[in-house]
Amino acid sequence: MTKSKSRMTKAMTNDEARSVTFRYSGFVILSSFVIRASSFLLLAVFPRAVQAADNISVLGSKPKWSVLERYQKTIRRDEFAHLINDIYCTHGLAPDLLEINGKTARILMNRAAQKFFTLRFAESGASCNPVPRLWRPAKSLPPAKPEKPLSGLRIALDPGHLDGKWAKMEERWFQVGSSPPVKEGDLTLKVARIIAPQLRRLGAKISFVRNSNEPIAPKRPDDFKELARKILIKNGVPQPRSDVLDPNDPAKEQTIRWQSEILFYRYSEIRRRAVLVNTKLHPDLVICLHFNAEPWGDPNNPTLVDANHLHLLVNGSYLQDELELDDERFEMVRRLLSRAYEEELLLADAIATAMARETKLPPYQYPTTNST
Ligand SMILES: [Zn+2]
Repeated sequence: MTKSKSRMTKAMTNDEARSVTFRYSGFVILSSFVIRASSFLLLAVFPRAVQAADNISVLGSKPKWSVLERYQKTIRRDEFAHLINDIYCTHGLAPDLLEINGKTARILMNRAAQKFFTLRFAESGASCNPVPRLWRPAKSLPPAKPEKPLSGLRIALDPGHLDGKWAKMEERWFQVGSSPPVKEGDLTLKVARIIAPQLRRLGAKISFVRNSNEPIAPKRPDDFKELARKILIKNGVPQPRSDVLDPNDPAKEQTIRWQSEILFYRYSEIRRRAVLVNTKLHPDLVICLHFNAEPWGDPNNPTLVDANHLHLLVNGSYLQDELELDDERFEMVRRLLSRAYEEELLLADAIATAMARETKLPPYQYPTTNST
């Protein structure tokens, strides 16, 4: 299954955040090398005073388009067109964002400035330049002994969300009666600590993106209050309230507190994890662990449900709104050119098959068209 990461975040928010469930289902996000930070929810893109023409996602950075120079002549035209049309841009995209011509692709860098990046295709498979990447595809790894099939493979485990006091803030928390609360961030870390020694026994080198209850990002919600206020004003809330009245407050998303918290735990924290993966850990594979939840009815009287399922997400199917953002579009093209998809699909297939066999859980059927 290919699915937009940002839409996934939205789906999770709707599915699990506002209601309680008992039966959790595990899901795994696979990512070779790059974790994409999510840009959903705060739809307002923030024009900076000096660079008003940039169209960058929340807490995103200005893309370094020159990095793509390293990918010149690394892909044939037909391969590129297939990955764009069938994998990454299945929802379509505005015609000026990407134009595939005979020998080149023209990619919009900045609409206001009418600046474009020109990617040159390789003419044949034999003339393709090597693909630069910081992770290693499976076939480039040295042969492994049968008892150590993962020998030398660098795997980063990313236990999704946070534990402790942050779990409730993230709405990844529920409690039935007086029983101890169930926290997604606690479950994911426990699972990561269980599978780490098992993967090491198979020869893998394991690192943790998070290995405590605490966030890895240095900033906290209070650091984002001013940004939250500006975003709300820009989104048509001229005088945003500072605080949430109660958990069922229907206008809580329009408060500075709610927005500053989401800037902290979703945007700042996830982007920081991506930086750690991409600049320090340099794994061949990232496994992001999550436990999704089914709706549990009345939050004040949660109902336990039998529904259970399994799913894996592979990066792709970017939404048109995502592709409009310069940094998201840049990351999509870089990911495409690194050829992560082919590796991720094989891994997802193997892991999904093994997990389905062991857990006997049915696959999750998405109720929306955001996955393909
Ligand atoms: Zn989650």
